[in-house]
Amino acid sequence: MNILVINCGSSSLKFQLIDSESEQVSAKGLCERIGIAGSRLVYQKAGADKQVSEAPMPDHKAAIRMVIGALTDRETGVVTSLSQIGAVGHRIVHGGERFAASVLLDDDVTEAIEACSGLAPLHNPANLTGIRACRELMPDTPMAAVFDTAFHQTMPQEAYLYGIPYDCYEKYGIRRYGFHGTSHSYVSKRAAQVMGRDLATLKLIVCHLGNGASVSAVRYGKSVDTSMGLTPLEGLIMGTRSGDMDPAIIEFIAHQEGKTLAEVMEILNKESGVLGLSGGLSSDFRDLEDAYCREMPEGIRAIKTFVYRVAKYIGAYTAAMNGVDGICFTAGLGENSPLIRSLVCEYLGYLGVRLDQEQNQKRGQDTVISTPDSGTAVLVIPTNEELAIAREAAALLQK
Ligand code: AMP
Repeated sequence: MNILVINCGSSSLKFQLIDSESEQVSAKGLCERIGIAGSRLVYQKAGADKQVSEAPMPDHKAAIRMVIGALTDRETGVVTSLSQIGAVGHRIVHGGERFAASVLLDDDVTEAIEACSGLAPLHNPANLTGIRACRELMPDTPMAAVFDTAFHQTMPQEAYLYGIPYDCYEKYGIRRYGFHGTSHSYVSKRAAQVMGRDLATLKLIVCHLGNGASVSAVRYGKSVDTSMGLTPLEGLIMGTRSGDMDPAIIEFIAHQEGKTLAEVMEILNKESGVLGLSGGLSSDFRDLEDAYCREMPEGIRAIKTFVYRVAKYIGAYTAAMNGVDGICFTAGLGENSPLIRSLVCEYLGYLGVRLDQEQNQKRGQDTVISTPDSGTAVLVIPTNEELAIAREAAALLQK
C-alpha cells in the first residue's frame, strides 16, 4: 500500500510516498514558503533529478493540492490517481498525556490534538492545518496521527515530574513529555536487530543529535527517561536552543538587559546553544568542527560544552537503568560526525567503551563502531522517521 507521510510546519510541508510492503520511497519533496511570497515545491521521484516548481501557495490546502498534482502527474508522477494512496500518516508534535500510541484520525482525535496546542503552540496548529487540508482534499483516505511524544508516555512518574507544586501538573499538565519519540523508538528497535538481541532484554541509550537534540533511556523497549521536557527546549545543548540551565537565568537576563519574557525566550530558543556558545559563529556543526580543528576558541568551547552535556546524560541514564548494553548515535550529527562520537566516547571509559576508529569513519549505514571487546556496544543507526510513520499507519489500518 502507498502511504503518504506528511510533516507540516507553519510555512513548510515535507512529504514522502512510501510503499508499505517494500518500504521503498517512490517520491518525496518539500513545499516551502507556504503563505509567503515565493512559495515553491521541490519534488523528487525515486531515481530522478529534483524538480523545483514555483507557484503561489497561499495556504496548506494549496500546498497539498500541489503535492497531489505532482504525485499524480502523467510524466513525473508515481501514481495514476488518489485512490492509489492507501493512507496518510501525519507527524504530530504533541499528543500530551492523551496519546501513548498512534491513532487513526477522526473528528474526536483532531479535537484532542487541538486541545494539546497550548503545550506546543508553534507546532500543533501547523500540524492541524495539514490534517484539515488533507481531510478536505482526500476525504475517503484513512489518516493516522503519529505523535513525537507518544513513545515517551511509558516514563515513570519520578522521571516525568518536575520539582514544582504538584498543582501545576494537575491543573496545567506541566511535566516532561519528551520529543523525537518516533526516532528514539525506530532507532532502539533497529539497534536490537543490529546487535542480534531481543529488544525486551536490552538497556539502550539513544542519542538523537541533530539541530534539535535529545537523549533517551530505553529499557526493555520502553522509554524510561528522555532529555527534552514540557517543550523541546530542555536537555542537551542544541543548534540554537540552550537546553538545561538554571531557570533563574531568565529573570536575570530580563532584568539586566531590560527585555520582556518573550524576548528572553527568543534568545533561549534562537540565539543560544552552540550558536550562542560560539559567539554567533554558527549553529551548524560542520562549521564548528572546522573551527575546532583549526583550534579556534569559539569552536572548541561550543563543541566541548556540547559533548560534555551528552556525556553527562549518558551517565545519568546509565544510572537510571542500572546499566547499559548499547549506546546509539543518530540524526544529522550523530550519523555523520566521527569527531563528536569519538569525543563523547572519551568520557565512557567507566563503561569499558572502546571505539573501532575505522568503523567510526563510516556514514549513513547501520554500524557497530565499538570493538568486539568493548564493555558496552556503541552503534550508529541512521534514523528514518518517515518510514516509522508509514509503518505505524500501515499497522493501524491492518488492525
Ligand atoms: P538534523 O537536524 O538531524 O538534520 O541535523 C543537522 C545537524 O547535523 C547540523 O548541525 C549539521 O551540521 C550536522 N551535520 C550534518 N552532516 C554533518 C557532517 N558531515 N559532519 C558534521 N555535522 C554534520
